[in-house]
Amino acid sequence: AFNANVAAAQEALNAFIVATPEAAVEAARATDARRAKGEALGKMGGVPIGMKDLFATRGVQTTAASHILEGFRPEYESTVSQKLWDAGAGMLGKLNLDQFAMGSSNETSYFGNVISPWRRNDGGNAALAPGGSSGGSSAAVSARLCPAATGTDTGGSIRQPAAFTGITGIKPTYGRCSRWGIVAFASSLDQAGPMARDTRDCAIMLEAMAGFDPKDSTSLDMPVPQWEAGLSADLKGKKVGIPREYRMDGMDAEIAALWDQGVAWLKDAGAEVVEISLPHTKYALPAYYIIAPAEASSNLARYDGVRYGLRDLPDGANLQDMYAATRAAGFGAEVKRRILIGTYVLSAGFYDAYYTQAQKVRTLISQDFARAFEECDVILAPTTPTASFALGEKSDDPLSMYLNDVFSVPASLAGLPAMSVPAGMNREGLPLGLQVIGKAFDEQGVLNAGLAIE
Ligand code: GLN
Repeated sequence: AFNANVAAAQEALNAFIVATPEAAVEAARATDARRAKGEALGKMGGVPIGMKDLFATRGVQTTAASHILEGFRPEYESTVSQKLWDAGAGMLGKLNLDQFAMGSSNETSYFGNVISPWRRNDGGNAALAPGGSSGGSSAAVSARLCPAATGTDTGGSIRQPAAFTGITGIKPTYGRCSRWGIVAFASSLDQAGPMARDTRDCAIMLEAMAGFDPKDSTSLDMPVPQWEAGLSADLKGKKVGIPREYRMDGMDAEIAALWDQGVAWLKDAGAEVVEISLPHTKYALPAYYIIAPAEASSNLARYDGVRYGLRDLPDGANLQDMYAATRAAGFGAEVKRRILIGTYVLSAGFYDAYYTQAQKVRTLISQDFARAFEECDVILAPTTPTASFALGEKSDDPLSMYLNDVFSVPASLAGLPAMSVPAGMNREGLPLGLQVIGKAFDEQGVLNAGLAIE
């Protein structure tokens, strides 16, 4: 049934780059066979999922939604996807995304925009952004093409698309999920996580995805807690922090009201609510848009026309010409913009003025959170400053696109677990999400607050 839905919705949503119906059926059959033999089923036994096309999948095209990787079929499987298959999940296909996970609307994909299944209630039929970069994942889960999907989050790419489409997504603590076999964007920020219909499904899937991996030097060598078993919406004795600095001038009234509603729900669940301060919040976005492109410019140097995917070899070309032609043809505009910003901020003359400064800001942001968490257990904030916008509305204005990440990047810079839960709708009938940010390693606290909201 899911395979049929994936095929039927492809034209309208463009959520998948490649469908793999046989893989999903094979996992379902394997689960049936185990059940027949009375064997225990894995955490994800028989569940068909979508795989963001940033995860390397053996023998199945892996593109990061870029022309430069078109046709690349890895010889290896990412650790996270392998763990999901080991837990019994099956793959419905590879999901569309912003190219190299750079974007907030899924408009930078070489394989075309993903279209949100949502529409405004004004009778118009404007195609809306599913968020990004995990826009294929959010559209597919929201349209019920799959019960769950993988996402990755560098500066908000799980949380923002989840908020835009009325689903749930959690970015765990940096290091919880192995980055091995995930196409690298900004290695000190990239983190995988689940996107699903509700908190419980996220807890189940995260248990299957997480765990130490000696192949990723930043992987956390800690046991994976039983998050599903630990779920509880009773927040008695918990303190929820409301960061003063997130209440920005000109904040949308609907977002402010949603936030107040979230506070009321958490109080009803028994929590005490306290005001906290994260004084360096306003520097998070500029710091992120220096650090992420800097790391990207270095990571993307590997696409040289030799090792993967596309090769453009003009007649009589030498090696330099081949690099230039391949990269000119292979990378999209946003990717080139990031590479240019990244190489600029890392260049000898500007390194201290930009990159070193941004790293210092990053430390200050982490210290802000550490201090705030002396006074509270979790932090509640909006996920995004607005609901979903129309495709094309921001695509010519990178700065306004970047501003959409204002509430999601601070937790990324600090490596903290953070989640978006559906919390209401705006007056146009579009979903809005609330964000819960937790202490490092306290995914349980985050999930429990999420459960109390949903
Ligand atoms: N929107 C942010 C960016 O474009 C975050 C992307 C992400 O988390 N992968 O960088």
